[in-house]
Amino acid sequence: MQRLIEKAELTHCLTRNELVKILSDDGVNEELFNVADRTRKAYVGDEVHLRALIEFSNYCRCNCLYCGIRAENNLVERYRLNKKQILQLAQHASVFGYKTVVLQSGEDLTFNAGYLAEIIAEIKKLDVAVTLSIGERSYEEYKLLKDSGADRFLLRIETTDKVLYKKMHPKADFENRKRCLHDLKKLGFETGTGCLVGLPGQTIESLADDILFFKELDADMIGIGPLIPHPHTPLKDCECGNLMLALKVMALTRLLLPDINIPATTAMETLNPHGRIMALQAGANVVMPNVTAEDVRGKYEIYPNKVGVNYDELSKKLNQIGRTISHKKGSRGQQQQYGKENL
Ligand code: SAH
Repeated sequence: MQRLIEKAELTHCLTRNELVKILSDDGVNEELFNVADRTRKAYVGDEVHLRALIEFSNYCRCNCLYCGIRAENNLVERYRLNKKQILQLAQHASVFGYKTVVLQSGEDLTFNAGYLAEIIAEIKKLDVAVTLSIGERSYEEYKLLKDSGADRFLLRIETTDKVLYKKMHPKADFENRKRCLHDLKKLGFETGTGCLVGLPGQTIESLADDILFFKELDADMIGIGPLIPHPHTPLKDCECGNLMLALKVMALTRLLLPDINIPATTAMETLNPHGRIMALQAGANVVMPNVTAEDVRGKYEIYPNKVGVNYDELSKKLNQIGRTISHKKGSRGQQQQYGKENL
């Protein structure tokens, strides 16, 4: 097992069987997390990039079985911010010092690409990177968004197990989601994807496939989150995803894609009050604080008890582990490569 982890650190390659072996053995977790942490330090340094998250609409046409804002959940109060409100949040974030603004929503087609393009063009005047997380659109729409100045796009594949994908997203098309990711790459977006850990029926083998998919796509960002069942969804009686397993998937992703951006996800912190710091010491180098206005924040409830980020507390905790908050945009490939020669 030790040899497999060494191989991953040196070659950044593992086979499906090797990934399965590591994922199945909890005796090597500490070693795995240490090696992922070392790789993170060597390739992307000690700076932690902050991304200001604006959740601008919770209207959604999809019915993902796990998600609290799915179309069929009638218990959610729906909201949509307008252009002026979104720009105001982006501006506050920029004044505060954020260098990236993430616009996230349900799949809300009221925000057509033209309208979004206007918003993006305005935000770009603030000299920040703009990341979109708005779901599946056509190549033409993605192109319009890119041309308006958007830099990055997050679209998790959620799971690469086609059968499980169909169960979790009854009306959605796995091939179309993959098409979207390839279009985003082709258009030059820094492209983020990722998966949920703990979907009912998910296997270790399929998590290994997820990691190999990230590598094959050459994803620029990967977000891994444990499932947190939402009481108003069909998955309400499921168990929470396993945080350790989610951290292992994340650590292995760092080993296979050493120079990418990986967030310590909110779902990890929601499951464990130390989840964020654990993730940052097991391969992660990004945190995404929510800057959505308090009055609507509670309504963007993809899962319950979503925790926030307290800037001062985060800054203090980061200092304690020898890390600092970055004041740069933090795109893939722009980080200094620290001490790689020492590997
Ligand atoms: N509509 C956008 C944004 C989705 S919300 C899109 O399709 O990309 C962002 C992520 O939250 C999803 O990709 C999903 O992986 C995660 N998520 C949704 N419900 C969740 C739950 N119950 N527990 C944990 N993560 C969840």
